[in-house]
Amino acid sequence: MNEKHHITIHHIKLYKLSKIKQKQLEYFLKNWNKAIRSALKIVKHWGFTSYTKSHKHTYRVSRNNFNLPSQVAVEANRKAIETYKSAENAEFHRQVEVSLVNNKGFELVNKDGRYIAKIPIEGRKSIYCPLAFGEYQLNKIENPNYKLKTAKLYKYNDEWYLDLIMEYNQPKRETDTILGIDLGIVKLATFSIIDSKENILHQECMSGQELRFKRMRYKHKRKAKARSSGSKATSLIAENRLCKELNFKIANRIVELADKHNSLIVFEDLKNIRKNVTNDNNLNNYEKNSWAFYQLKQLIKHKADLLGIPYQDINPKDTSQICSVCGKKGFRLSQNRFLCDNLHLQNADFNASINIAKRAI
Ligand SMILES: [Zn+2]
Repeated sequence: MNEKHHITIHHIKLYKLSKIKQKQLEYFLKNWNKAIRSALKIVKHWGFTSYTKSHKHTYRVSRNNFNLPSQVAVEANRKAIETYKSAENAEFHRQVEVSLVNNKGFELVNKDGRYIAKIPIEGRKSIYCPLAFGEYQLNKIENPNYKLKTAKLYKYNDEWYLDLIMEYNQPKRETDTILGIDLGIVKLATFSIIDSKENILHQECMSGQELRFKRMRYKHKRKAKARSSGSKATSLIAENRLCKELNFKIANRIVELADKHNSLIVFEDLKNIRKNVTNDNNLNNYEKNSWAFYQLKQLIKHKADLLGIPYQDINPKDTSQICSVCGKKGFRLSQNRFLCDNLHLQNADFNASINIAKRAI
């Protein structure tokens, strides 16, 4: 059975820390921050973009000057490279949490049913800190589907925390129905749920009207103020936020329905989307090149993974040109209506979404 990985993060408090341990953690956090700042200076100075090239330069400094444990020094180098790659002039502006890797100096130890974090703090020295687990987190720690990958150590309001970053493998479920999604510009997503005998169980459509309208407005705004880069960036951000909001709404609805009907989710392969919409003369280039579909698909996949709902990409060739009732060719009478050679008149988007679902049978 096909499995999917995804990441969950659990914030865990370290509790009943002695004064000595708190001091040790404080010292460790300070050294880590000094080390990553030094490492970043080195990386910038040489213009390094690979871990291996910068490693021998930063590692020695982290070890000798800041007494970081060996595995943590490796992470300091990684942190510096990642930061430098994100932007050449990037800086660490605030205190940065310590990166720890499971089974590399850091680990969770189960002692008499209680979990204790082994934290490497300096040189070869580690300390053991009890963790305040809730029932919820405990279930995940002990669930074999969850694997602890990394952890972040930080201080907040005088308390110490570990963020445990876990990878989760949710086995995919067996499905009874198929949910086909037709992606479009005017109607962002039209979907149909069919059973194995091709009976239609549910149909729904989510319009992109609001997005389309606002997007046009932003576009005009951008053109008008093309020379002022500040306003350009602002309206782009606003537009992206709006798009994301809408995509969240659609993704939630689709996954909710797929869960309820125990459906396999079927998408069009996105490589073909642009080709399909170019036939529509009402659209301008700006809209055709939208990345919104990609984002929507990613959101649906992510939410589906959490519930073990499977999905599949199909080649959408002809899905908007053939009749979902008889399979004969047809054409769009208008934006909404589709008519086949056997005179089946249908809603064009629903017709396409059924065809997409049927491809997966
Ligand atoms: Zn027909």
